[in-house]
Amino acid sequence: MVKVGILGLQGAVREHVKAVENSGAEAIVVKKIEQLEEIDGLILPGGESTTMRRLIDKYEFLQPLKEFAATGKAIFGTCAGLILLAKKIEGSEQTHLGVMDIVVERNSFGRQRESFEADIAVAGVADSMTAVFIRAPHIIEAGENVEILAKYNGRIVAAKEGNLLGCSFHPELTDDNRLTAYFIEMVKNAMNEKVAIETTI
Ligand code: GLN
Repeated sequence: MVKVGILGLQGAVREHVKAVENSGAEAIVVKKIEQLEEIDGLILPGGESTTMRRLIDKYEFLQPLKEFAATGKAIFGTCAGLILLAKKIEGSEQTHLGVMDIVVERNSFGRQRESFEADIAVAGVADSMTAVFIRAPHIIEAGENVEILAKYNGRIVAAKEGNLLGCSFHPELTDDNRLTAYFIEMVKNAMNEKVAIETTI
């Protein structure tokens, strides 16, 4: 069975475990660097990106996470996780993993709309799905290799670049597992690509 890790330092970890299991894969809560070796794909959950970064530093996860991304295994960042993936964060000099060719703006839906739900279309995933936004970021710029999967009010809220998937909202907070299932297919494809590369070398 495909093994999907969920970075378990902070945030909506348990909900992702449930979504992964409901999509027919094994979920592993990653709390130690060594666990990155056991997993085929990784979810960076929502939560609070600055707190998450503090914990990433405390447990010396940053370099291992960058190396995990460099292996070509699939990674899915949701909300704060999307911020962790971005190559640039608007108004900040700091980046975290800095692997996905996007610029994100944090808390970009305004204070008066701290959290809300909206029905959105996600290309290749669903014509309509309920997306839960909680102090959500959005993607303000995307590089040429980034495929835009969803917009809400003209703002990019889901995108894919190779084996990286990111969204502004919390797919794990509804019973609709289609985006998680889509990511698990990406994990499988990345595994097959890796096998193909290794057998041709
Ligand atoms: N606003 C949060 C941040 O900047 C993200 C919110 C979330 O993950 N729900 O980290």
